[in-house]
Parts: sequence; structure tokens; C-alpha cells
Amino acid sequence: MNQIKVLVVDDSKPDAILLARELERAGYSVVTKRVDTPEDMEQALVSEKWNVILCDYIMPHFSGPLALELLHKKGLDIPIIIVSGQVGEDAAVEAMKLGANDYVMKTNLKRLGPVVEREIAEANGRRQRRKAEQELKAKEEELRVARKIDAIKDEFIGLISHELKTPLTVIIGAANVATSEGIGQEEAREMMEEVARSAEALSAMVDNLLELSRYQSDRLNLQAKQISVEPIIHSVIDKLNNKSSIHHLAVELPHELPLVSVDSIRIERVLYNLIENAIKYSPKGGEVRVSGRHQNGQLIVGVSDQGIGIKPEDQPKLFQSFQRLEVQNKYDISGVGLGLRVCQILVEAHGGRIWVESTPGVGSTFYFALPSC
Ligand code: ADP
Repeated sequence: MNQIKVLVVDDSKPDAILLARELERAGYSVVTKRVDTPEDMEQALVSEKWNVILCDYIMPHFSGPLALELLHKKGLDIPIIIVSGQVGEDAAVEAMKLGANDYVMKTNLKRLGPVVEREIAEANGRRQRRKAEQELKAKEEELRVARKIDAIKDEFIGLISHELKTPLTVIIGAANVATSEGIGQEEAREMMEEVARSAEALSAMVDNLLELSRYQSDRLNLQAKQISVEPIIHSVIDKLNNKSSIHHLAVELPHELPLVSVDSIRIERVLYNLIENAIKYSPKGGEVRVSGRHQNGQLIVGVSDQGIGIKPEDQPKLFQSFQRLEVQNKYDISGVGLGLRVCQILVEAHGGRIWVESTPGVGSTFYFALPSC
């Protein structure tokens, strides 16, 4: 037998029993609850699911129109049928206007079974249509997100390819010249140095991409050892000195730096990114200075330049992935906007922090602090 849950809004208990009997006669197994105040109706709507509401029109503490308003406010699609002795034509029209699905006279209860059957079927139809519409919308949203992701991937591939292509073009050109006939030994050597510089830049970019990818998949796996960062600073300076003989690279360290427990390759990456940026974003002949100090149980390393500087409002953006500042277009400096994000990831993975102090037109100092041993 078809079981239905019926909420009866009626002040008369015998009438409610009568309605249930009528529905049973029509072949339903009926579970009913009777309420006769707005509070009880609201409570019943919140706490249980109903197939149909049978509602008296005039009650001492409630009324059909009020019940209709309450149901409407709750936004529930439950068929509501006015069942009343007093429903005259005007009240019936009024009830239909307010959203009642039908009305049945208490003097003609035989209609109740068929009306309930029809309204429940229609409500089920509406529910299925809504579900289908929701599924369609969800599919459309999925498609929209997938297209957006594709567009981001395309943009990313375009950006990376462009940045990889630049040093590769230099490498191919310089290697061709170096191996061409009649080239002098000195010129060939210069060309091979160019090849080495560009290959180094290429390798640094790929390393940054790999670090980001490891971080995103939780595979940073630091290999920490107690060391001094001094030799690392000198090794990065040597590497980059090759790259920029047109900048003056200086190191200013106190007599003894505290030891830190770090993954030396990762700290080398941080220093490389910061010093490379200091060179990239400062004019030829400018000084790039690496300094270090011991303060409050921390080793603080600073990389200063006399470059273009960064406006205060731009500073919070610097450490986001693929974030480059507008000003780069003006100076035509290449990059993908990954170096500082990777610095931040690596420094924070060591329990440290990274920040910048900068004055536009004067220069910037990027600092990172690591807990000392
Ligand atoms: P990239 O250099 O590849 O663009 P980074 O993540 O290393 O990426 O730097 C992000 C942005 O921060 C740069 O595009 C630049 O706008 C700014 N920036 C980084 N270092 C400096 C610096 N030393 N001086 C001025 N701007 C800098």
C-alpha cells in the first residue's frame, strides 16, 4: 500500500481523524500529524518531510491564508489542499490565489483521495524536473570550470614556453657561432660562456618549477644538516659573478655566523633567486650586497640592490605564484614570477620567514630569517 505522510492543519481532532480515514479508504497507508498554530506548523515543516498538507480555512488560532504564507516563506514545494466546511466560492478563489493547490469541501470528502493523488503526482513531477535542471546546471558548471582550467593551462604553457625559448635561442645561436668555421679561440670561448650562462638560467627556471610542483604535492623532503651559510653565499655569488660582470656583487658578513639546520641546496636556491633578482631589477654598475647578522636566535640574511624598487602597495603581491609587477613591461625584464614564491616556500619550510623593505627608485632589500642552532 502506498504510504504517505500528511500534515493536517486543523483545530478539530475528530475532523483530522476523518480526513485520515478518507485517505485510507482511497487506498493510502497514512501517517498524520495534526497542528493548529503557526509555531507548531513551522516546527513540523522543519523537522519532518510531508507529502501533502490538508489545511482548514478558519481556525481559532490560525487560518488557511496564514498557513499558505508560512509554507511559501519556507520555500517548500508541498502540495497544500484547503479542506473546509466554510469555504465559499470567494474564499476558495482567494486560497487558490494565495497558492493552495486545490480545495475540498468537508461535505464532499470523496474528492479528497483523487485530489491528493493528483497533487502528489504533480509535486513528484516538479521535483524530478528540478533535479534534472540542477544536474544540468552542475554539468554546465563543471564544463565551465574545465574550460577555465584549460585556458589557464594554455596560458601557463605559453608563458613557460616563451621563457624557456629565450635562453634556448641564445644557447643555439652562441653554440652555432662557437662551432662555425674560422672562429677565433677567444671568440669561441666567449660564446661558450654565453652558452653556460643561458643554460644556468634555464636550469634555475626548471628548478623553481620543480620546487613548486614538489611543494604542491607535499614532497619537499628537506635534507637538513647543521651548516654555516657563508660558503653557500660565496658559491652563489661566484656563479652569478660569471653572469653579471656589470654589477658589483659584495658580501658583508660578521666574523662568525651562527650555524643553521638547513637543506643547503634549498638555501642555495633561495639565495640564487634573490641575488639574481637583485641583478635583474637594478641598473648596470649597481651594487648588490649580501649581508648577514645574528639576532634573537635567528640568522638574518639580506640581499640589497640599488634598483627600481617596489611600491608599498605592490609588496604583498610579490610572493604569489606567477605574479609579476606591471613595471616589468616598462623595463622589458623577462621572468615568470616564480622565484620569490619558491623562496617563500623554502624559507617557511625551514621554519623561517621572508620579507622585503623597499623604496621605489632607490632600491630593495629582501631579508630571510632562519632559526639558528
Ligand atoms: P620574476 O623575476 O621571474 O618575475 P619573482 O617571483 O622572482 O619572478 O619576482 C616577482 C616580481 O617581484 C618580479 O616580477 C618583480 O616585479 C618583483 N621583484 C622581485 N625582485 C625585485 C627586486 N629586487 N627589485 C624590484 N622588483 C623585484
